[in-house]
Amino acid sequence: MTFSRSNQIDKLKKNDEYDLLIIGGGIVGAATHTIASNAGLNVLLVDKNDFASGASSRSTKLLHGGIRYLPQLQFSLVKESLNEQKILKKRLGSLYRPLKLLAPIYKNDGFADLPKIFQKNFIAPFSFKIGLLFYDFLGGRKKSEKHKNISKNNTFDLFPKLKKINLNKSFIFQDAQTDDSKLVLSLLRTAVEINNSTAINYLNVKNISKKNKLYEIDVFCELTGIEYSVSTRKIIAASGVHNLPGDYKKLSTKLKMSGGAHLVLKGDPLEIKNNGVFLPKKDNPQASKEEIDYLIRHVKKYFDIENLEYISSWSGIRALIDDKDNSTKKIMRGHIIEEIDKNFIQIAGGKLTGFRIIAIEALRQLFNKKFELQDIEFQDQIINYQNYYNLSDLEHSIKHYCVATPVDYLLRRTNISWFSEDNGKIAVKEIKNHTNFQNINFDSFDYLKKEGLKII
Ligand SMILES: Cc1cc2nc3c(=O)[nH]c(=O)nc-3n(C[C@H](O)[C@H](O)[C@H](O)COP(=O)(O)OP(=O)(O)OC[C@H]3O[C@@H](n4cnc5c(N)ncnc54)[C@H](O)[C@@H]3O)c2cc1C
Repeated sequence: MTFSRSNQIDKLKKNDEYDLLIIGGGIVGAATHTIASNAGLNVLLVDKNDFASGASSRSTKLLHGGIRYLPQLQFSLVKESLNEQKILKKRLGSLYRPLKLLAPIYKNDGFADLPKIFQKNFIAPFSFKIGLLFYDFLGGRKKSEKHKNISKNNTFDLFPKLKKINLNKSFIFQDAQTDDSKLVLSLLRTAVEINNSTAINYLNVKNISKKNKLYEIDVFCELTGIEYSVSTRKIIAASGVHNLPGDYKKLSTKLKMSGGAHLVLKGDPLEIKNNGVFLPKKDNPQASKEEIDYLIRHVKKYFDIENLEYISSWSGIRALIDDKDNSTKKIMRGHIIEEIDKNFIQIAGGKLTGFRIIAIEALRQLFNKKFELQDIEFQDQIINYQNYYNLSDLEHSIKHYCVATPVDYLLRRTNISWFSEDNGKIAVKEIKNHTNFQNINFDSFDYLKKEGLKII
């Protein structure tokens, strides 16, 4: 059965008892879903909005080893993340893209993550070098993957727009990148079309009650207003920054919120091609308009460029563990798995890069089974969607990637609204007339504006 929303609703109507309910279709929920269904469990995943509409489409999209954790001496976390990169490279196919990052070392401008002493001019290049040696060592990297020293002159050959004044030297090191929302959708499609499980967006878990050995769940369809009831033996809440639903709200894990912002520039004005640049950081971005001004100001500080035009921006909020009550080990790992009830756990915190580990750890806490992430299927299809409207991609995404509203297609199955200069305005007009969306009371322009797009 294909991963269309109508198929998923039909399945829900025929099956009202599950081994496992997953609340939340971000990267953590989607990975847990794929791994659990691959192990033969009958799984239902629901998200109250679209899949990946939370932090999992608003990240920096790096599958990184976490070089910034080295100054905090979190070697085991860095080693684990670097090892994860290798596993994901095999499993994700084209959703894993190696990325070269340039780290320019400027006089009087140390990297903010380094302790003050290591930011001093005479010691900064040396301490960064030591960090990179550790990074390569912990990652067990081959010669071709190891970091490289780049002289001042070579830096300008490679990145001609970087500012020359005060540059000391630079390094290039390797990390990796993905497309977070396409990764989430590929995990879900694999779970649904290969493992025959069920995943439905715009289904809000409103209440959970316990009857004998089962949990009774009330879900509400945000698109039609219809309510459904299902029962499940176990529950995993992978609900990101959100509290648990209904009466369980008071048992939710205590979280801190942390934000971050991104800009999509017009063309390649910085001439960095497909590489990244790891800029020294001095102050913190705050509110939305200020975040954008800050990012532009900060890029101009290190690149010789007068005007920086941007197409779109997005910001995201991640959940960090409120560490007062929790054990040190789990805080170091960046995520926590909390028992809410004997058969009900909540996952909080963590990184995109660690999704496989987090999911397996959570499942092992509830089931006595062997779990592993299978190879992700079909990823080339979603990767190859055009970044302009076309009917064939739209219809394919409705049938195979559970598109339920126009913006699901514009923001999370393609990057049309993020990367096209009109933010998808023309596309919205065409898509709204598609028969699938005509009965949905959903103003796409308003939604895109709420996302921070410049649609007028
Ligand atoms: C600015 C920023 C940059 C980042 N960059 C990186 C990076 O480069 N690399 C990296 O490894 N990590 C990065 N991260 C971290 C990463 O994005 C997050 O750790 C990850 O996306 C969290 O995924 P999640 O599934 O836990 O949460 P989310 O993606 O937020 O998913 C939770 C879902 O639960 C749903 N939900 C909540 N309550 C209910 C309910 N009652 N019923 C149904 N559904 C519900 C929500 O709608 C939501 O879709 C970044 C985070 C931010 C904020």
